[in-house]
Amino acid sequence: KKPPARKGSMADVPADLMSQIYGFETIFSVSPQKLKAIVKHFITELDKGLSKKGGNIPMIPGWVLEYPTGKETGDYLAIDLGGTNLRVVLVKLGGDRTFDTTQSKYKLPDHIRTTKDKDELWAFIADSLATFLVEQYPNGVTGNLPLGFTFSYPASQDRINEGILQRWTKGFDIPGVEHHDVVPMLQEQITKRNLPIHVVALINDTVGTLVASLYTDGETKMGCIFGTGVNGSYYDICSGVEKLNGRLASDVTPDTPMAINCEYGSFDNEHLVLPRTKYDVQIDEDSPRPGQQTFEKMTSGYYLGELLRLAILDVYEQGLIFKGQDVTKLQKSYVMDTSYPARIEQDPFENLEDTYDLFKNDLGIVTTVTERKLIRKLSELIGTRAARLSVCGIGAVCQKRNYKTGHIAADGSVFNKYPDFSKRAHQALKDIYDWEETDATKFPIQIVPAEDGSGAGAAIIAALTGSRLKKGLS
Ligand code: BGC
Ligand code: MG
Repeated sequence: KKPPARKGSMADVPADLMSQIYGFETIFSVSPQKLKAIVKHFITELDKGLSKKGGNIPMIPGWVLEYPTGKETGDYLAIDLGGTNLRVVLVKLGGDRTFDTTQSKYKLPDHIRTTKDKDELWAFIADSLATFLVEQYPNGVTGNLPLGFTFSYPASQDRINEGILQRWTKGFDIPGVEHHDVVPMLQEQITKRNLPIHVVALINDTVGTLVASLYTDGETKMGCIFGTGVNGSYYDICSGVEKLNGRLASDVTPDTPMAINCEYGSFDNEHLVLPRTKYDVQIDEDSPRPGQQTFEKMTSGYYLGELLRLAILDVYEQGLIFKGQDVTKLQKSYVMDTSYPARIEQDPFENLEDTYDLFKNDLGIVTTVTERKLIRKLSELIGTRAARLSVCGIGAVCQKRNYKTGHIAADGSVFNKYPDFSKRAHQALKDIYDWEETDATKFPIQIVPAEDGSGAGAAIIAALTGSRLKKGLS
């Protein structure tokens, strides 16, 4: 039997473009050996983050000091301020490892990410909550509804109901919020509107993912987001978190679990191991926060389209593609989001006709078939690198905690939508661990789709911590 013809054969690609492709293959590939070196350094950085002195990775205690039992009950509100939408959820915990959710999404007005007036953000959230309450409780609410606030940015916490924003990520840049507790800012706008809502917990999205998934699956070891940003969380034990020293309630023992929001998007900010290309350097320099989120800038959905754009533009500037075409639109930063490389990788046609349409309709560029083959190859390289680097955080946490088996609960647009992300990620895990097993479904560590972290997770955490707060424990 003859093997099927290779999709998108490179035979017709001229030599000058082929040499560009080889160059890209070299700079964007991450070998098994390199992955192992990255994981090794990653583990040291996780440990540094937990020490009193601290390091580049924040390793923020999330003040969830229990594992969910599945018996938690009650009605909770949950909100999730994501990169694109505000999600408001009403969660009814069933008390038998089940939950019901009802939700609405409110699109963040584009300018809000960088508004000069921070109150505009909190007012937008409070207004959305007001709208939601009218829909869900037409006859009004009795008492106060507890609200779990999923805030997917690095925020330090000395207790569950506070979050001091360390720095904005993912293109947010609103003055007056960094270094302040965001909980009172939101509560103030809620109170101003007389809404019967009390913000009881501030939760990182990865911690919500971890707890929600653990509520239904006892094998869960980590909660991870592969989306607009990247991050992971896991349970450590209090004695393993040196920097907690003296900040614990009286009932806490050395073995008490503590959810840790790693914030490992900032891994390798000192540029020691990650294989950065000139495009990564440029993305960083042009970003509102240069020098920060190095790992995230190479792997997350916010940047993959921009990486592709910069690489294509580089080939254009060498006079090798798009001859005589108007590239004005392509010259605009962030004009291509992650749906571009995702769609290009999924283009089912031999001659990449979908990619043709994409460039012609969105960017006003008429491409030749060989140009599209280069663009397709680049997308594969950028997508594959992101998936392979992404799992280094998983490898590091699992090796540090000595987890040999388990489930990694994953969520986020890249995990859910980017073609082959999961397949590539599992292959990279195999490279890190040298597993002999070839069937990915049998790998000892499995990345699985998470339960609803910012809905159910936030509600479960509100329930768990609510009962602690009532007992006067933090
Ligand atoms: C934020 C994290 C968040 C991650 C995924 C990062 O940019 O710093 O707090 O968990 O994105 O949403
Ligand atoms: Mg999110």
